[in-house]
Amino acid sequence: MTLDEDYFYDPRKKTKITAGSQRAHLIDSYRHKGMRKKLVQEIQKKGIKDSRILKALSILPRHFFLDKAFEEWAYQDKPFPIAKEQTISQPYTVAYQTALLNVQKGDKILEIGTGSGYQASILSMLGAKVFTIERQETLYLSAKKLNRELKIPRIKFYHKDGFEGLPRLAPFDKILVTAGAKEKPETLLHQLAIGGQMVIPIGEEVQVMYRITRKSETQFMDEKFDKFKFVPFLPGLEKD
Ligand code: SAH
Repeated sequence: MTLDEDYFYDPRKKTKITAGSQRAHLIDSYRHKGMRKKLVQEIQKKGIKDSRILKALSILPRHFFLDKAFEEWAYQDKPFPIAKEQTISQPYTVAYQTALLNVQKGDKILEIGTGSGYQASILSMLGAKVFTIERQETLYLSAKKLNRELKIPRIKFYHKDGFEGLPRLAPFDKILVTAGAKEKPETLLHQLAIGGQMVIPIGEEVQVMYRITRKSETQFMDEKFDKFKFVPFLPGLEKD
């Protein structure tokens, strides 16, 4: 991937993040920036080489996506609890899944499991059009609200059951599942464009990262990568 400044979205240029603002939690201090730089170096050492992904991680303040009380933990390479017993993925995992997706500018991407909205923001910063689905109403609402505050473009939020995908908006160039699936979700696979790819962790206790490429109307090709541990991909909606 090459750097494409026209598409690379930099929220710093669009968002007023000042100490005096009403949203006191949206302060990105030098301390935060320093911690973030270290985190990105750590992720790079773990094998993420794509400069655009590293740049996106170094710009986007991860602590905005956590409750204020937990911001000390935002720059450790660890998953972290958010509301409703869900988690914001480990930064390395976000980078890993993003790298496997080969994001190109203008890609139409379906994300299953909005959670905090952090992963969706990274995809947008790389120039993708993102459609993200969350089953927990609380998370759907808070991710959408934060997105409005940060003014990160090209993300549409849906409170829906991810197993159904978004049939009316299909096909998608890429589908990213950020919850652990017990098996391949057939309905979602059929929402991929021919040549499109899905990145999905599959397994019960521990999941293997799969990249599934749709070769034709009926043929799919699997590639397997490393093992991870995700919160489960669960059917049905949760309302407040
Ligand atoms: N991508 C998120 C991390 C997601 S954790 C981030 O960047 O913060 C996985 C998320 O998947 C959880 O929020 C969980 O509620 C959601 N999820 C699980 N099953 C789902 C389903 N069937 N449809 C939509 N979201 C689902």
